[in-house]
Amino acid sequence: MIIVMKPNAGKKEIDNIVDKLHKAGLEAHLSTGKELTIIGVIGDKRLVADANLELMPGVDRLVPITESYKLVNRKFNVKETVVKVGDVEIGGDRFVLIAGPCAVESEEQIFQTAEKLSKAGVKILRGGAFKPRTSPYSFQGLGVEGLKYLRAAADTYGMLVISEVTGIPALQDAEPYVDIIQIGARNMQNFDLLKEVGRTQKPIFLKRGMSATIDEWLNAAEYIIREHNNQVILCERGIRTFETATRNTLDISAIPVLRAKTHLPVFIDPSHACGVKDYVIPLARAAAAVDCDGLTVEVHPNPDRALSDGAQSLTPEDFVELVRQIKPILDVMGRKL
Ligand code: PEP
Ligand code: MN
Repeated sequence: MIIVMKPNAGKKEIDNIVDKLHKAGLEAHLSTGKELTIIGVIGDKRLVADANLELMPGVDRLVPITESYKLVNRKFNVKETVVKVGDVEIGGDRFVLIAGPCAVESEEQIFQTAEKLSKAGVKILRGGAFKPRTSPYSFQGLGVEGLKYLRAAADTYGMLVISEVTGIPALQDAEPYVDIIQIGARNMQNFDLLKEVGRTQKPIFLKRGMSATIDEWLNAAEYIIREHNNQVILCERGIRTFETATRNTLDISAIPVLRAKTHLPVFIDPSHACGVKDYVIPLARAAAAVDCDGLTVEVHPNPDRALSDGAQSLTPEDFVELVRQIKPILDVMGRKL
């Protein structure tokens, strides 16, 4: 971090800052120009995170030069994170497919979906049991009953389970049934929940908040890893922009940016990104080409009758077509399914 002093700052004000930095265990590097002085802060700036340096007399502004997240930061951790769950490796050589309905609606619905998806090569079955719906009058999910159906369907077809938790009570309910815990866009900055999932032993699938910057998202991941759970997978699911033709705007450029900034695996959710079934496969092709680590896709046996997100849901047959279309792209990218 650099502290830029005001042009009229005097020796006393500069000394005060230097003194405060020293007391916090940091070093100061002074650069005195004709017009103003700048102070380079050497050391871990978290030591002065709450010191209100910007309010001290003579200070014009603080300029951060390193990111506040450390554990997720590639600069401090060069080795790629590979999350192992069952016999699936996420962030390794293979491109991993997660698929299933937006919500578990019935035993029959989830078994039907699991059977077809397992035949299509899907190893991880998704399905919401606690649904964060915009309207309180919309279907809210089956809760624990839904998790039981999801687990049973996955076990029957040799699949793993991912499901979203919307709060700490839901986490406690869901933990025994799921292999991967999903934190949805709406809870990306639910810091208590992030800390709590950080204390579990299960991988966390952290979706990007719909208005979150990449740095805010990485800081959210930092909350989880700080609690000693380093099995975090990031998922880009579209962000809010001025465009209304799609539900969100897939920020495809987030993937190379994240590759540069973090060692964590990165997924794309083309379904929530566009909200329109016909656009899901094109976005999936782009996801394969941009070299993310996998996809999560909403698939429903009867999208017309889905209780949530039917408009963006593929049929199992559409999903087979998605896989067919991404395969040659993955070949070019040197990735196996
Ligand atoms: C979901 O994946 O079920 C979901 C609700 O997505 P998001 O949190 O990205 O909106
Ligand atoms: Mn959905």
